[in-house]
Parts: sequence; C-alpha cells; structure tokens
Amino acid sequence: MSDIRRADYRDLRLYTDDTGPCAIDLSDNTNLWGTPPTAAAVLAGVASGGLRSYPEPYSESLKAALAAYADVGADQVVTGAGSDDILDCAFRSLAVPGARVAYVAPTFVMVPAFAKTNGLEPVPVPLTADYDADVDALLSTKAQIIYLCSPNNPTGGCLSREAVEAIVSRAPGFVVVDEAYVDFAGSSLADLVERFPRLVIARTFSKAFGLAGLRVGYALAAPEVTVELEKARGPYKVSAIGALAAQRAIENDLGWIRERAALAVEGRERLRADLARRGVDTVRSDSNFVFAPLRNAPSVAKAMRARGVAVRAFGNIPLVDERLRASAGAALRITVGPADVMAAALAAFDEALAEAGRSDS
Ligand code: PMP
Repeated sequence: MSDIRRADYRDLRLYTDDTGPCAIDLSDNTNLWGTPPTAAAVLAGVASGGLRSYPEPYSESLKAALAAYADVGADQVVTGAGSDDILDCAFRSLAVPGARVAYVAPTFVMVPAFAKTNGLEPVPVPLTADYDADVDALLSTKAQIIYLCSPNNPTGGCLSREAVEAIVSRAPGFVVVDEAYVDFAGSSLADLVERFPRLVIARTFSKAFGLAGLRVGYALAAPEVTVELEKARGPYKVSAIGALAAQRAIENDLGWIRERAALAVEGRERLRADLARRGVDTVRSDSNFVFAPLRNAPSVAKAMRARGVAVRAFGNIPLVDERLRASAGAALRITVGPADVMAAALAAFDEALAEAGRSDS
C-alpha cells in the first residue's frame, strides 16, 4: 500500500533531550535552584474538585497578571503550552504554507522543526563573527517570518539592540524575538512591541521561573497579532493548574526568581573562569548556561554522562569565529546551577576530558 502520510514529515525526528534519569542534569537550562515558593504552594494545595471544569479559554487571569508585569494591555498578551506552543502558533498563524522562516544559526533546535511542521521553509542564517544577527543576510531572505533568539540558545549572548531594531524596522513580514532567557540578561527588547506592530516577543515560565514541568509560555505583541496567535492556538491550551501557578509566581515570587537568576549569573561567570583555567575558552553569555566550543564535545559529554552529569553536546555549528573553526563546529552547552552541583560537574568534566582526550587521540 502506498504511503499517504505527509512526505515533508519524513525526515523530521522526535525531540530527544538525551537525558533519561541522570543525577545532575545540566542539559536543558532549567532553574536548578527549584520552583518558586508560591507556585509550589498552589501545586501542593490543588483540590481535585475544580478539575471537572475547563480552565479559562485563553487564560484571562494569567494574561491580566502578565499585562501588569510587562506593563502592556491584556490584549497584548497571549499564552500557550510552553513557548514551544507560542512559536508553533506564531509560525502557523503569521505565514501561509510555502513561505520562508529565516532564523539565526545556530539557535533553538525546534525552530526549523516548527517551520517544517507548519509547511514553511526554514532558512538558516549564520550569526556574525561576534555572535550577533546578520541584518543584511536575514533581510535578503525576504522571509515572511524572521526568528531571533536573544539571549540566543545555544550560544548564550544577547543579540544587539541595533541589529534587532534594524531587522524589525526593515523586515517585510513578522519578526519573532524569543526571550526564553531574558531574566538572566538584565535587558529586554519588549519595549519595541509598542513601536513595531509586526513584532512578537516570546517568553516562558520554564527557565528562570522554575516551572518547566507545567508547560506555560506567553508572548507580547500588538493586539491584532495576539489574536491571530490565539486563533491558531485554540481555547483551553494552558491547564487550570499551570495558569494559576504561573499567575501566583508572577504576583508573589519575583523576588525569589530574581535572587536565583542573580546566583545563576554569578555562577556562570565562575564557570567561565573555571573553564578558562582549564584552557577552554567560552563565549560571552547573558543566560544561565555557558557555550564552550570543544573539538571532542560529543565524547566529553558521553564520558560526563557516564559519571552522572548530563550536558548538551552540539556538532555542525556554523564556523562563525576562530573558536568554532578550531573545534570544527563542535561545542558543549552547560547549564549553571548551585555551587555544589557545579563543583561535581567540573570534577566529572576533568575526568571526561582526560578520558576523551585518551580515546580521541
Ligand atoms: N525557546 C528557547 C530559546 C529555548 O531554549 C526553549 C527550551 N529549551 C524554548 C523556547 C521552549 O521552552 P518551553 O516550551 O519550555 O517554554
């Protein structure tokens, strides 16, 4: 019988975080200090009685809390099941099948996948040598959607405001700026939403907010745009429990979240210094993770995993600077956690580096 499934899905693979249980998980940039206290209390006190009913169709209460937090109108906020869902809905609603999605490369791995699953053509555009967005190259794609990630995953640094403004002001279509790691950066591009009606700022509760398990994300954009995302998203997408815990975290836990983000930033600079002392040069980061070009990254990651520490290894990163040329496009991405966790991770790294060095030479 002929295969009548979508041909353009054939080369798509399921996302693997290559984790499985691991004593120390530094592979997905979540908050290793835990979950904010008020959100945790909401979850501990969940009464099953209320679960018979649907949640609010478009998370109206959470949107009101987010609007107050971001100083925008509630009609400028849209929520989703993680920022994955926000990106997916943005791609689906803001471009018709066959259109192009241009994106900085390397970036969040799901971006080309979401482009393809929505019938769009992904067009990677390498970062510049200083890890910024290549304005002219991105614009020359004439893409209907340009995806930017700031701070960028996996490289860690913010894109420059000048580059983002130049892109947003000249792009023929929509621009999505993914701010999943904004809470570690000390600056945001969200103010541009008031000036640019074709801009979408995507954010998440999964990183600094310590609620990855709940799957809550949101975006800020002009009211004419948020409504398009909501059409693509459909009602009841965020669970009642997820919406309430996220709302309470925004209302009550910002102090806890900001303190932990500051600890992550301190720990990040300590990790960069610790790696530098070992001769491993890392890229400037504005996130809760560090990106280290390293020729034998895959074998180092494997040897660390054998010692109970998961980090993410990358290959085929565009060779945008000398460090990546020297590593042939291989790199490690390491999430920052509390000091004792990082001490254990560095011990595993040292052993792994010695072992990988022996087996690769
Ligand atoms: N954007 C970026 C840049 C990410 O790194 C991630 C998670 N790894 C996401 C979006 C998706 O996060 P979530 O769906 O948990 O909000």
